[in-house]
Amino acid sequence: MKYILVCGGAGYIGSHCVEELLKKKYNVVVFDNLVYGHREFVEDIPFFEGDLNDIDSIRNCFKKYNIESVMHFSAFAYVGESVIDPQKYYFNNVVNTLNLLKVMNEFNVKEFIFSSTCATYGNPQFIPMNEKHGQNPVNPYGKTKFFVENILKDYEKSYGIKHIIFRYFNAAGASLTKNIGEWHNPETHLIPLVLDAASGKRKNITIFGDDYNTADGTCIRDYIHVIDIAHAHILGLEYLKKTGDSDFFNIGSEKGFSVQEIISKCEEITGNKIERIIGQRREGDPDILIADSSKIKKVLKWKPRFSDIHTVIESAWKWQSKLNLLIKN
Ligand code: UDP
Repeated sequence: MKYILVCGGAGYIGSHCVEELLKKKYNVVVFDNLVYGHREFVEDIPFFEGDLNDIDSIRNCFKKYNIESVMHFSAFAYVGESVIDPQKYYFNNVVNTLNLLKVMNEFNVKEFIFSSTCATYGNPQFIPMNEKHGQNPVNPYGKTKFFVENILKDYEKSYGIKHIIFRYFNAAGASLTKNIGEWHNPETHLIPLVLDAASGKRKNITIFGDDYNTADGTCIRDYIHVIDIAHAHILGLEYLKKTGDSDFFNIGSEKGFSVQEIISKCEEITGNKIERIIGQRREGDPDILIADSSKIKKVLKWKPRFSDIHTVIESAWKWQSKLNLLIKN
């Protein structure tokens, strides 16, 4: 039996990809160290608890399961933390990925799907951003992803490892069927924090700056439903298997919402008033980030099905009430 290995499959985006892979009847094994992942997210499929910093644990997993392709979601993703402690990010996101690729080489596994980010573009030179936008990441987190993207090009040339790279814009929302969703500790993302304020778990939401060059002064972002991201990974895997061509794609909804608009939408969906506090700008936040996703639509025939902002926030809201119960018990 052949397996798709999902590294970081107990995390937010990884667990949603596992759900989509299972719907397509792939055999899946999840590899996760559970530092940020949740054992509860992996049900009824093989789970291998291991760490990518321990190359023998990766080898043991490859010995145990006949792996045909790898999806790699294991990474630290707090931009602010990456500035304070870049070493942590370079080791975890770059060195550990090298370990994984090394073991793939040892076991002759040639298909790799990699989670990258729009943070590899750095400050936007034009909006919407397509894949032709120059890559000039402005923080260590973005650089780690940029470095791995480049490493993958060399590994393709020399070892024949084929790859698909996905550059996510703002992942949001939650599964409509399974008990999985965004569960970070600490939580730093806008939508879960605003919903915490709506449910009374937090008193208010601080808006990081209202003097940006946008209509209401707050930052505009492109929120893309995690199920649409997961679906793109299946299409990417199938494309790689069919054509053997490496490629890279943006994944975004191509629509932008300001922080104020997101808060208003959350008020509308939850029926609760949310107190807004205007705070300082957060370092490194560009005014506007919006994807041009025409390449993935054209090449992979992907289209977003759940990324209207209402579905994004409503699914996140439903997940939050489940999560609050889970945390209480
Ligand atoms: N944001 C905010 N208050 C918060 C968290 C985030 O105003 O408590 C803003 C943030 O400055 C950015 C947007 O919301 O403009 C989305 O931030 P998030 O951290 O969700 O995603 P990022 O864009 O950093 O990947």
